[in-house]
Amino acid sequence: MIHVLDTRHLDRPGIIAVTALETDDGIALFDTGAAATFENISGAMRAAGFAPNDVRHVFLSHIHLDHAGAAWQFAELGAIVHVHPRGAPHLIDPTRLMESATRIFGDEMQRLWGEMRRIPEEQVQVTDDNIAIRAGQYEVRSVATPGHASHHNVYHWDDHLFGGDVAGVRLDGGPPVPPFVPPELQVESWLESIERMRALGATRLYLPHFGLVEGDLGGHFDALSERVQRWAAWFRDELRKGRSESELIPDFAQCEAQDILESGAAVERVADYERADPSFMAVTASIRYWQKYHPEAIGIGQD
Ligand SMILES: [Zn+2]
Repeated sequence: MIHVLDTRHLDRPGIIAVTALETDDGIALFDTGAAATFENISGAMRAAGFAPNDVRHVFLSHIHLDHAGAAWQFAELGAIVHVHPRGAPHLIDPTRLMESATRIFGDEMQRLWGEMRRIPEEQVQVTDDNIAIRAGQYEVRSVATPGHASHHNVYHWDDHLFGGDVAGVRLDGGPPVPPFVPPELQVESWLESIERMRALGATRLYLPHFGLVEGDLGGHFDALSERVQRWAAWFRDELRKGRSESELIPDFAQCEAQDILESGAAVERVADYERADPSFMAVTASIRYWQKYHPEAIGIGQD
């Protein structure tokens, strides 16, 4: 039995989910939501018939605070936390992670995410590419899937796939959009990761933002891949024109909102896409990506 639990982040439903798999050896949890919503998650678990201290395994897609913020709370209750090798040091000592998040979110840190405490090293299990982890009767396999973040994993068992952020943000049957965030956006890796996920042939995809996508996932991955490429090209062309970050922030917000609406999202869900995946972060991320990997494509280093 699999439960999609709503963390009701900032009291909004349908923005940040955690996925709970019942096994014959306790609960395996895929992402945790933010520390600030631990009470909400606990309540959703009790409503589903289990409790936070039933969680034996936490599988993290990556360490961004909307995904891993509450991991330490489950670790305090005894869970083992599985994470990509590049994410592990930041769980054992979250100082730098919190500093870098504070640069983005400033005074809003506590309200948005809550605190992050260190997880004892012996409870952090490094999970490299293609590792099988036993969780009760299930064998969960990690697949390294960089692009959204360099330290991103997805997890695959039977015909189920827990997709993290690299599999897209998709709310309420709307279109899948790629959350471009700093500092590790890497477009080519993202496209490769989409093909790796597609090749798994899963038919049930769980998204942290938000919930289950069922059936043939080809259309989902096609639309996601197309949008990764189109958005990256939009930023390249705008940067080539010499446009600045502060100019691009409102323009991209509008461009993204229009794209989402035209692709079938309900009008009232557009703001929720913005909550799940703030568009200003895509601007910062894309500028960094083009400057770092393809400066010549945006006219840097040419006369
Ligand atoms: Zn993320």
